[in-house]
Amino acid sequence: MKDGKGPRTVLELQARFPDEAACVEFLRKLRWPEGFVCPRCQGRASSTIRTRRLDQCRACRYQASLTAGTVLHRTRLPLRVWFWAIFFLGRHKTGISALQLQKDLGLGSYKTAWTLLHKLRGALGERASQRLVGLVEADETYVGARGEPGMRGRSLCGKSLVAAAVENRGEHAGSLRLAHVASASQAELGPFVRGVVDQAEATVKTDGWSGYADLTAHGARHRPVVQGVPARAAQILPWSHTVFSNLKGWLWGTFHGVSAKHLHRYLQEFVYRFNRRSLEHDLFFYVLRRAAQGQPLPYARLIAEATA
Ligand SMILES: [Zn+2]
Repeated sequence: MKDGKGPRTVLELQARFPDEAACVEFLRKLRWPEGFVCPRCQGRASSTIRTRRLDQCRACRYQASLTAGTVLHRTRLPLRVWFWAIFFLGRHKTGISALQLQKDLGLGSYKTAWTLLHKLRGALGERASQRLVGLVEADETYVGARGEPGMRGRSLCGKSLVAAAVENRGEHAGSLRLAHVASASQAELGPFVRGVVDQAEATVKTDGWSGYADLTAHGARHRPVVQGVPARAAQILPWSHTVFSNLKGWLWGTFHGVSAKHLHRYLQEFVYRFNRRSLEHDLFFYVLRRAAQGQPLPYARLIAEATA
């Protein structure tokens, strides 16, 4: 393992976490980096008991679960399953589908694999305080979405509109934000763009679409470029076109399309990996840390959530 951050290869993963105890130790350091803190009395001394997923406070005897209040809240799965899933999601350029995860880890049900992956995706959001700066391309596109189970025919579900804002740094793209939006109207696109750019430090470049027309009125620097022929669109907004093309390839290639209802979490995973492409070797560690420090996302809420 390099620089203590976590395994970078499957061989390292296997060697570093051969059993539950090794996973527990690693997770404990992420959960309580300064050592155990009792949630009830703030006591710092604990004994580790039973399955070793529980710490008992020596002062008040409160039993704190290592996974309670995290993304792994109430999980019955071995931590090793989570660690492998996190490795695949973080280290594979294309992530992993629930079906593939179920097969690779021998999970009992598709639902278990699906739920685990969505809980992880739910923890991968970008901080709202980190705004995009410099030249920012804003654009939107339709992605094919799979119908909900039980719906007749995929086409009924139609397509979902995804809005993007991405920093154009010439030869490179900077930071990216995506959102599933209800329509390409000003009411949808305006708040999305204004919500992700630093209005003092960014210039927003768009095509001539009216959905972006009120950006200036709201205080953003806006540079609309009328594209004329569609072929020019890719020249005007090169990075958003690259992003959209990669996104569509990923949604179809890895998942064969995704449900519109859960699209926002797939977008979150895509953005997370895109924005950390220079850190790809350490993404096992960073995704695991998100899981250890993130909030629970119970299955009931996962399936009840409204779109975006
Ligand atoms: Zn205590």
